[in-house]
Amino acid sequence: MKQYDKLIFELSKKGRMGYSLPENKLPEYSFKAIPVALQRSLETGLPEVSEPEVVRHYTNISNRNFGLDTGFYPLGSCTMKYNPKINEEIAALPAFTSLHPLQPAETAQGALEVYYNLSQSLAEIAGLAAFTLNPFAGAHGELAGLMIMKQYHMKRGDLKRTKVIVPNSAHGTNPASAMVCGMDVVEVQSTPEGTIDVEALKPLLDETIAGIMMTNPNTLGIFETEILEIAGLVHAAGGLLYYDGANLNPLLGQCRPGDMGFDIMHINLHKTFSTPHGGGGPGSGPVGVAQRLVEYLPNPQIKKEGDRYFFVNGKDAIGSVSGFAGNFGVMMRAYTYILSLGKENLRQVGELATLSANYIKESLKEYYELPIKGICKHEFVFDGLADKSTGVTTLDIAKRLLDHGYHAPTIYFPMLFHQSIMIEPTETESLETMDEFIEVMKKIAIEAIEDPQTVKTAPHTTPVRRLDETTAARKPILRYVDLLNDTPES
Ligand SMILES: *Cc1c(COP(=O)(O)O)cnc(C)c1O
Repeated sequence: MKQYDKLIFELSKKGRMGYSLPENKLPEYSFKAIPVALQRSLETGLPEVSEPEVVRHYTNISNRNFGLDTGFYPLGSCTMKYNPKINEEIAALPAFTSLHPLQPAETAQGALEVYYNLSQSLAEIAGLAAFTLNPFAGAHGELAGLMIMKQYHMKRGDLKRTKVIVPNSAHGTNPASAMVCGMDVVEVQSTPEGTIDVEALKPLLDETIAGIMMTNPNTLGIFETEILEIAGLVHAAGGLLYYDGANLNPLLGQCRPGDMGFDIMHINLHKTFSTPHGGGGPGSGPVGVAQRLVEYLPNPQIKKEGDRYFFVNGKDAIGSVSGFAGNFGVMMRAYTYILSLGKENLRQVGELATLSANYIKESLKEYYELPIKGICKHEFVFDGLADKSTGVTTLDIAKRLLDHGYHAPTIYFPMLFHQSIMIEPTETESLETMDEFIEVMKKIAIEAIEDPQTVKTAPHTTPVRRLDETTAARKPILRYVDLLNDTPES
């Protein structure tokens, strides 16, 4: 094993140092001031290493990280587009990063202006009346949006409306958010073409329905062409329409959820409006609403009067859903992204994302089973290999892709199919990159027939092989001493 393949603790040599602190000049009594309970009784147990060892160690592990800056990342539903570096530069301007959330609004007018302008831009893009930027993620936006839905019915004294309809293709966060919001979930089936079955929806629409949650295009990448009829039916039954905006990317500048009849939506700024994300963040899930719901938006709200921006708390607001007013760094990136693209180029995002997805789908459909045919939007789903006779699964294909230097697509979601492989190339990949990916996907499909064992035992070239992901999630080993003792904390 090379030195830098070791854990930092394994490199430790007693007395080795990277840096020596100046001699302690604090008087004895300053230590006595620390309460006994807070005083250290054991050695720190920190690794003792030299500076080059530390630098090499962290540089080498950082190189094992896979990201958009290292390769193609076709992770469906996550919109892993390339994030322009200019966004980072603007978000890192000291005038913005040194803001304190508690400083008075008069001293942070520029930041409030960014918040205000961004919320106005999103309202125009979405075709809705107003946006809050306070929620920290898509799922957080869903919860805030459903709280607004609930508040709307409560304020009207319509207390029977406790159910939310969710399609069986929905992202897992949709039913989860409804449950967290204290609502019951009713599932509606999809047609063989992958869209909501309108005939199956009709009998569900009664006076107990608070609303429906949908994404359009849906998680199969298929545009719900019956959306106007669905909106009419739900509204006639007294319900509201919630739009999961995670799939907004292909619609940018083409059509607007508000015009389709949606009343509430969230946008995943980190997906559609470009912030590097993964591993849990950072995120931002702005929520937009139609005019009759504006008064329920969470606090604080940011308003403008003349040239002045200020915070207000609305009396019918659902309350506050986050500390302060959201994830400002992600807002800065989104605002920069929108301004640097401008209206015309924003339109191209959706067109190119749709073209890329259809190009890959059509190039591979003889090798992989395509359950929903026809034109997709920004993503599509294969149901495993076309030839399943050798028993090579979607997991095997995903693992084999790692050997070729690609991040795996989303697998086993949506759950409508047993072997889902969900591919979303986004608008930022070149034709050459997509052609290379297509060639590798074909090669794996052929290898699955000619040499299935190699695919079933992949990956072969990565630093670690197949991991026990369940144990890693259930019993993570978070401390070096636990690794040594092999006694994972529960
Ligand atoms: C990503 C995603 C969400 C959840 O968004 P987070 O920002 O990860 O909380 C919800 N719905 C769909 C369709 C998504 O792709």
